[in-house]
Amino acid sequence: MGRVISVSNQKGGVGKTTTTVNVAAFIADKGRRVLIIDIDPQANAGYGVGVNAGEDDASIYNVLIGEVPIRDVIRETAVRDLYLIPSNIHLAGAQMDLLDTERKEFILSTAMREIRNEFDYIFIDCPPSLGILTLNGLVAADSVMIPLQCEYYALEGLNQLLRIIAMVQENLNRSLSIEGVVLTMYDSRTNLSQQVVSDVREYFGNKVFRTIIPRNVRLSEAPSFGKPIGFYDRGSIGSVTYEKLAEEVMKNG
Ligand code: ATP
Ligand code: MG
Repeated sequence: MGRVISVSNQKGGVGKTTTTVNVAAFIADKGRRVLIIDIDPQANAGYGVGVNAGEDDASIYNVLIGEVPIRDVIRETAVRDLYLIPSNIHLAGAQMDLLDTERKEFILSTAMREIRNEFDYIFIDCPPSLGILTLNGLVAADSVMIPLQCEYYALEGLNQLLRIIAMVQENLNRSLSIEGVVLTMYDSRTNLSQQVVSDVREYFGNKVFRTIIPRNVRLSEAPSFGKPIGFYDRGSIGSVTYEKLAEEVMKNG
């Protein structure tokens, strides 16, 4: 059975989508079948893998409200063996739409049952919040990957996320584990970045991925070409490090 990994941090702009897209693409490039499920109303993952999903296209939103079977919203991407279930802006209203639904934390997990076995890895790109969408992402996952930006406030708010993870483990999904913390946007020229790395390593021990993702402008350019970094600029430091990170994830199982 495939492994489901939620990429989660309620802080905005820390590299969740960049990490999801590029790790998923490298694993697909290594011959595994990989699915990305975008559950962020901002719907950014589609850009990163070259899928144009308009406001009127069926998306994960239609699946969550029980309108469309999950299989019908799986799209091919620009990368072989990499698939995407797109999000769209309608998802912004999900919190309200799902208010009266029973067991509303389990909707995604239940919907995924019929396709789980068809992929080696499923990555869930979570929104920057700890609402019902992220909860669904954590309940549906085997593990959670936490990107942390190497900046002054990196650890701020992390306790909230860890508390939610503990709550999910206790009440909703006993098998959820922490896959690892990913340090992103590292800038070797600053003492601050180095300080964050040592603080995070001290706090999380061996739950921190060895590979550190540096700040690299090629990573921020790639989505405007609809390509993961490995297909945009394979020689860039962003590409080299995300490939290493993907290998670490695969080594974990
Ligand atoms: P959100 O919380 O809004 O979903 P996010 O956590 O998914 O954001 P990203 O969208 O992956 O974060 O990254 C935020 C911005 O930083 C994007 O413009 C992205 O291209 C850029 N970025 C991400 N990682 C890097 C990096 N290592 N080097 C340079 N730019 C990066
Ligand atoms: Mg994002």
